[in-house]
Amino acid sequence: MKKRGFPYTIVGIIVTCALLVAILIVALQTRSIRRTYQGEAQITPAPTLAPPTLFARPTEVLLRLGSVSPEVKSLQTKLKELGYYAGDVDGQYGNGTREAVVLFQQQHDLDADGLVGETTLDVLYGPLAHAVVVTPEPVLPQADQDDLPLLVNRTHFLPDAYAAKKLVVIEDALPDNLAVIKEAGERAEKEAVEALAAMLEAAHADGLTVWQVSEGYRTLEEQLALFEAQKQKYLNGEETGSALSPVAAEKETERQVARPGTSEHHTGLAFDITVPGRSFADTEQSKWLAENCWEYGFIIRYQNGKEGVTGFSPEPWHIRYVGKQHSLYMEQTGLALEEYLLLFE
Ligand SMILES: [Zn+2]
Repeated sequence: MKKRGFPYTIVGIIVTCALLVAILIVALQTRSIRRTYQGEAQITPAPTLAPPTLFARPTEVLLRLGSVSPEVKSLQTKLKELGYYAGDVDGQYGNGTREAVVLFQQQHDLDADGLVGETTLDVLYGPLAHAVVVTPEPVLPQADQDDLPLLVNRTHFLPDAYAAKKLVVIEDALPDNLAVIKEAGERAEKEAVEALAAMLEAAHADGLTVWQVSEGYRTLEEQLALFEAQKQKYLNGEETGSALSPVAAEKETERQVARPGTSEHHTGLAFDITVPGRSFADTEQSKWLAENCWEYGFIIRYQNGKEGVTGFSPEPWHIRYVGKQHSLYMEQTGLALEEYLLLFE
């Protein structure tokens, strides 16, 4: 057994040594690899957090229904941040994204076409982008027939029994600095003049300080005189170059001047607001009035696109006091006074 055991012992020692050497080599190599990695880690910059380019403003793109891209993702993120979009931020321009874009465009006076080009992007990523404005559902005011605004138009004559409640001289009731009164002694209903004062005060606060009240209350006699004066011009041929027949003159006049009894100015609740020396429709004042008059109980009585309902061409300067509860509903729904009053029948 001893003789036989000897070579096995030698072999055993050699194998064991070889194994030890091998283990030593592996151990040393692992150490050196680890050292290399640690060294590299020290010179490799730490990764930044979110990649900044992904959500920045996309450049020179036109995004539309069907677009799939990181830019759509940025768009969705931005729209979500502002409250226009509630869907998934998945980079796919579907119907939900389109609706959000259209809503954003509507609320920022852009073409509401759902196409995201440079113009929409400029506004979306610019300082004027604002959060979604949720308009409450219009609620029709509870009003008795007596509380409804008086209707005066080409077919609804002022009632014979109509009497203004409390006429005041406008310049006495309106603080001096708010507006120029074109005609001394011009009158209007007290309630309407007070609302006018509050409105003009707000306009001044918004930086619009030049206003003129060109017309307020007008009596039937005054209207008759206006009508006849205009008719005379047609009969004399002053307006058209050649004299018109009485029938034609009457018809032409009717297009320009309301017949006595059909003018809102008889109510004492209407004003013509102008800017001296300017075409009112082109002024900032006109824009301001259209946007804000409802807050003070006024409506722009003769609107663009409502000629068939009101019987009058658009008159951006003619405002009518109807009271705030009514002006609010008309503002929210875009109804003309004629259309609004039908809701109470
Ligand atoms: Zn008028």
